[in-house]
Amino acid sequence: KAKEAGKNGYQFYNSQMTELAFARIELEKSISDALKLKQFKPYFQVKVDAQDKSVVGFEALIRWIHPTKGIIPPDDFIPFAEEIGIIVDINKFMMQESMIIFKRFKAKGLKCGMLSVNVSSEQLGDYSYVEDVEECLKNTGFDAKDLDIEILEGQNIENKNRVAEILRSLKGLGTTMSIDDFGTGYSSLTYLKKLPIDNLKIDRSFVRDIPKNKDDMSLVQTIIALARSLHLKVIAEGVETKEQAEFLKKSGCNVLQGYYFSRPIPEHECEIYLKAKS
Ligand code: C2E
Ligand code: MG
Ligand code: MG
Ligand code: MG
Repeated sequence: KAKEAGKNGYQFYNSQMTELAFARIELEKSISDALKLKQFKPYFQVKVDAQDKSVVGFEALIRWIHPTKGIIPPDDFIPFAEEIGIIVDINKFMMQESMIIFKRFKAKGLKCGMLSVNVSSEQLGDYSYVEDVEECLKNTGFDAKDLDIEILEGQNIENKNRVAEILRSLKGLGTTMSIDDFGTGYSSLTYLKKLPIDNLKIDRSFVRDIPKNKDDMSLVQTIIALARSLHLKVIAEGVETKEQAEFLKKSGCNVLQGYYFSRPIPEHECEIYLKAKS
């Protein structure tokens, strides 16, 4: 009996595994099809100067415009895309598309400021990322000084020296560098000091409960003081209310981003937004 149960158990497990494997293969295929069919689109979220609320730039955030499932958010496919490696091609596509759109804005006389793109630290393991950035800059004629790279700390930044070296190469191209979701990752102060970083983005989990949570408020002020002593600019993400914006400004935060100013929007809405500003 035990043997039978064991056998059934094994078969059950086995067929589940097979199903899972099929689902993964299907997802893998649909992601690579989506890339070929250009179903990935950058949406843009504005970053404003904390003092005068002028446009500092935009962060490009990927959306999967799926023909039947609607708009799929990044959290639903980016982790898998990272796992299977296709993220490298997706990020390159996103970077190039965003640069082309920014060039279009500029040709229309619109002041769109800096373009920020996302990359996870795992992808910074070799120089091919630097080559991708160089290639996109060359293909589009985009000015490297207007490019900002937001780095998401991975859980296992194994080769920290290597990453530091690659960041230095990127800086050599003329880009700026930001640490994304700061406060949730694993970077030590020594590591931060070693990296050629320009900006710290305070994770939105620290902003969300302001002004209710006094601990979060002093934590944010501590992060700002830390950034100051490292000569970094501070950006707060996830700003949803006027009170939050006021508090962050008062505390010395340089740049603000969040639904209070704008949600991430597609190109045509972004153009309308910029036209209204100028
Ligand atoms: P992130 O880079 O930290 O981006 C901020 C996320 O917070 C975005 O979610 C944005 O829509 C959301 N957000 C902005 N303001 C507010 C607010 O006021 N309230 C709330 N509740 N949320 C706000 P999104 O667009 O879903 O992106 C999630 C993550 O996916 C990003 O986090 C980034 O890590 C990743 N991601 C997005 N696009 C790309 C990409 O092209 N390449 C890579 N590798 N990762 C990407
Ligand atoms: Mg980001
Ligand atoms: Mg972030
Ligand atoms: Mg995030």
